[in-house]
Amino acid sequence: MPKKPDATATPPAPAGTPALAAHLARTLQRLRAGRGWSLDRAAAETGVSKAMLGQIERAESSPTVATLWRIASGFRTPLSAFIEPPAHDGKPLFRAAAALRDRPASDPMWVAPLFPYDARFGFELLELTLAPGYERRSEPHLAGVFEHVTVVRGTLQVLVDGRWRTLNEGEAVRFPADRPHGYRNRGDAPAVCHDLICYTGGAAPAAGD
Ligand code: MN
Repeated sequence: MPKKPDATATPPAPAGTPALAAHLARTLQRLRAGRGWSLDRAAAETGVSKAMLGQIERAESSPTVATLWRIASGFRTPLSAFIEPPAHDGKPLFRAAAALRDRPASDPMWVAPLFPYDARFGFELLELTLAPGYERRSEPHLAGVFEHVTVVRGTLQVLVDGRWRTLNEGEAVRFPADRPHGYRNRGDAPAVCHDLICYTGGAAPAAGD
């Protein structure tokens, strides 16, 4: 099938650039149109104000990661879909977290989408950096979604089954993410983990969604 030119297939943009804001704006508009949701409905589903959603759709706002995560959860779509479009060729793909970190906005949690969600593979791999003292409770994902968290630097606590568990460097946990869970850094140095989020079976979002 001939490939149509794809306006979303632009290279990743650094933090806060107009290109990134434009990708965010397009993605949110497309998702909302795809579901036939009004701004009011989108605000109700995501817990993000109608005003903020409108600003993002007009590329006037650079939301925090926490806000993006609420939007992604409300739309039941992978976070990385908002940060970067998937690469569509099958070539080897080399990535450097250092070049991807701190997008899309300054926040106590930095997200580097090492491998953004791609429907062919059914997962996204994120590098997460938590500043000292940062705590994040994650909204439940769709049924069937699993997270695999591996600490690569520092010490991280993960809220699984209602209990905070400590993971040191090199330690990992897999847990069902269709229920409340969270991450926090009680140390005085940044904690870095890789979070492999698998969207399997019925939890797999549509391509490009
Ligand atoms: Mn999560």
